[in-house]
Amino acid sequence: MEDKKKIIDFKPREETPQFSAKVQKESRCTHLGIEADETSRKVFCRECGKEIDPFSWILALAKEEVRAESRWYYLTMQAKKIEDRYAQNRRKRVEKLTPKKKD
Ligand SMILES: [Zn+2]
Repeated sequence: MEDKKKIIDFKPREETPQFSAKVQKESRCTHLGIEADETSRKVFCRECGKEIDPFSWILALAKEEVRAESRWYYLTMQAKKIEDRYAQNRRKRVEKLTPKKKD
């Protein structure tokens, strides 16, 4: 009798990423305020009352924090460049106005 077992190879393909996360499109409202019910341990939209998945809410906050931090870093670097340019221009103006010493 012939063995008709089917062998399925689950070896990952090379293009399989090391890490992946399942991303679900969640039907969320666009309101920003939430209300946490400590008794039921559920989170609701403050405006429309729709129940919000707490993990999704925390994840959204974490992503926003990363974006804000990145933006803050960029703006800090831009401010530093402007300060440096201003200081350099000021030094040049002072040098032009300062009479040169003759030995
Ligand atoms: Zn809402």
